Amino acid sequence: MKSRLLFLGPPGAGKGTQAARLCQAHGIKHLSTGDLLRSEVAAGTALGQEAEAVMNRGELVSDALVLAIVESQMKALNGGGWLLDGFPRTVPQAEALDKLLSELQQPIDAVVLLELDDGVLIERLLARGRADDTEAVIRNRLEVYRDKTAPLIDFYKAKGLLTSIEAQGSMDAIAERLEKSFS
Ligand code: ADP
Repeated sequence: MKSRLLFLGPPGAGKGTQAARLCQAHGIKHLSTGDLLRSEVAAGTALGQEAEAVMNRGELVSDALVLAIVESQMKALNGGGWLLDGFPRTVPQAEALDKLLSELQQPIDAVVLLELDDGVLIERLLARGRADDTEAVIRNRLEVYRDKTAPLIDFYKAKGLLTSIEAQGSMDAIAERLEKSFS
C-alpha cells in the first residue's frame, strides 16, 4: 500500500468520506485542511477567526495560513504515512508542498483525482447542509475549484503521479475502486 497520498477533486466528490475510510483501513493519518480549519473556527483561535468569514463565502483562505497548518501537522507525524485531503488547492500551494516534502525526504506516492458531474456535486452538497453549503456559496466553490485547483490535475499528471477514479455510485463501490487502484 502506498502511504503518502493526495486526494484531488471538486467539493462534494466524497474526498473526506473516502479519505477517512482509506486511512482507517491502512493506518495512515488523514490530514484534511477543511477539518483542521473548522476545528480552529470552533475553538475560536485567532487563526479560526481569520478563516471563518473567508470559508463562509466559499473563498480560499491564504496559502500562508494553510501551509503553516500542514507543515506543523506533517512534521508531528515523524515520517508516518499520510493522506492530504483538500490541500494543495492552488499551484503555489502545490509548489510549497513539493519544497516541504523534499526537505522531509517524503515524496508523494500517488495523487488520486475523484471525478463527478457538477449536477451530482451540487445535489450532494445541498443535502449536507454545512455553513458553506448554500447554493450561491456552492457555485462559488465550484468556480474557485475550476479556476484555482483544477490546474493541479495537469501539474500532477506531468509528474506521472495521477490516477483518476469515477466518484459516482455508492460509498462502498467507490471505496472498492480506490482499494483496487492501490493494492
Ligand atoms: P469542500 O472540499 O467540500 O469544499 P473542505 O472541507 O475541503 O470542503 O474546505 C472547506 C473550506 O475550507 C474551503 O472552501 C476553503 O475556504 C477552506 N480551505 C480548505 N482547504 C484549503 C486550502 N488548501 N487552501 C485554502 N483554503 C482551504
